[in-house]
Amino acid sequence: MSEQAPVVIVGTGLSGYSLAREFRKQDKETPVIMVTADDGVSYSKPMLSTGFTKGKDADGLAQASTESMAEQLGVQLKTYSTVTGIDHAAHELILGDERLAYSKLVLAWGADVIRLSIEGDGQDRVFSINDLMDYRAFRQALEGGRRVAIMGAGLIGCEFANDLRNGDYEVDVIAPSDVVMPGLLPEPAANAVQKELENLGVRFHLETVVDRIDHHGEGVRLALASGETVDADLVISAVGLRPRIELARQAGLDVGRGIQVNRALETSVPDVYALGDCAEVDGHVLLYVLPLMACARALAKTLKGERTEVRYGTMPVMIKTPCCPTAVCPPPDDADGDWEVESDGTSVRALFKNASGEILGFAVTGQFAIEKQSLAKEVPPLHG
Ligand code: FAD
Repeated sequence: MSEQAPVVIVGTGLSGYSLAREFRKQDKETPVIMVTADDGVSYSKPMLSTGFTKGKDADGLAQASTESMAEQLGVQLKTYSTVTGIDHAAHELILGDERLAYSKLVLAWGADVIRLSIEGDGQDRVFSINDLMDYRAFRQALEGGRRVAIMGAGLIGCEFANDLRNGDYEVDVIAPSDVVMPGLLPEPAANAVQKELENLGVRFHLETVVDRIDHHGEGVRLALASGETVDADLVISAVGLRPRIELARQAGLDVGRGIQVNRALETSVPDVYALGDCAEVDGHVLLYVLPLMACARALAKTLKGERTEVRYGTMPVMIKTPCCPTAVCPPPDDADGDWEVESDGTSVRALFKNASGEILGFAVTGQFAIEKQSLAKEVPPLHG
């Protein structure tokens, strides 16, 4: 490794670009190379599920070109370059036949969508949307179509359902759970969101799964385990994400549900760090924006030479279902307590309290959603 080897950041999603931006606030000189498998266009991923509501297509959601990001951040960008390995003993990143030396390496390479293996010849109509390029392909394929089936009733499935209805598409949502957003929202809040989505015209098929997807007429027919069929022009698969850990595991880094790092974002290997959707930070896998921003700020200082640990505050998640504004701050997995629920129609205030009455988490919908800021102040931070 030469003394001049650059800091190398893999990934130009919100994690990679936020880190580069924070690092440049600390250090304008050290060479930085950013490597990405995609086109490097800067965009805000949460906005992908608001395209129709905001009247924006993929180009409208793009925030800055690769060239302007390279110039703004003073970095070299290698686009359409897929990392295939890490040789940490040599301090080199492997990109197929090429090797790239690093002084410090940051893995910000995100999470993979989970793909279900479903019978039938209609797979070419199934889209997963996890980046701007996916979204562009989906919007192009949707031209001329009016009916979308969504597999999955999690946050992403529900947000796309609301957005597509705002674009006047017919929407069917199919999921094995008996409520929407299981594991994220307490049941009364989930029921409120489902009710308002139904009022908007979304059709739910819960407690069942898609058995087959076959071409049918101009579109596809989905055969559900319940015996029902759903006809659609396109299918969105929104059944979950899995942190990308495989290359890290092969390189000998410790991995669990994500690439394991401590609060200084250090992996088990010297000079290799991770943040964002690929990382398991101090035992937490949090596939959201606020945690990655906190990590980017801490890691920028560490890369500059001032080792800094991330401190997670209270990080509520805003769910972009405008038909039923919703915010949630889930209680820690191991928290002891009970939900206290107050509701007025589809406006729900659910507070998770421990035996001493302390609020450890909350979910608010409808007219109570405006209380999210004040409630967030009452919930203890994740890192106290
Ligand atoms: P990504 O954005 O996935 O970036 C990964 C980067 O790594 C990409 O540039 C990719 O090309 C590159 N890469 C991957 N593998 C390789 C390789 N082998 N070699 C080279 N490059 C590679 N969070 C919220 O907090 N609030 C919300 O409202 C919200 N809404 C969302 C709505 C949708 C539709 C989705 C999909 C997510 C939403 N999220 C939301 C989650 C949030 O957007 C993500 O947590 C965040 O964007 C992850 O950023 P990242 O940079 O870690 O990963």
